[in-house]
Amino acid sequence: MAAHTYKDLLAHVGHKIECVVYGDNDNVAVECVTCGVVLKDFDKPAPVIIDLCPICKSQLIDTPKGGIKCSSSRCGYWFCY
Ligand SMILES: [Zn+2]
Ligand SMILES: [Zn+2]
Repeated sequence: MAAHTYKDLLAHVGHKIECVVYGDNDNVAVECVTCGVVLKDFDKPAPVIIDLCPICKSQLIDTPKGGIKCSSSRCGYWFCY
């Protein structure tokens, strides 16, 4: 059972705790080895890929100031992270 509350976690005081990854770094979890349970885990977030201009579908390129802009000079689309 995952630990969500004060009492959940208090039950594992003094136990052996490890942080492990599963799969191809797809999921990382904090486990109580003593009890053999996952206390907390996170899935790897899907990468955000923005490579085409939403307006004209041209390739987007990085700007020196950070952010990306449309490679079409006529379009003028610009996006800052
Ligand atoms: Zn435990
Ligand atoms: Zn564009």
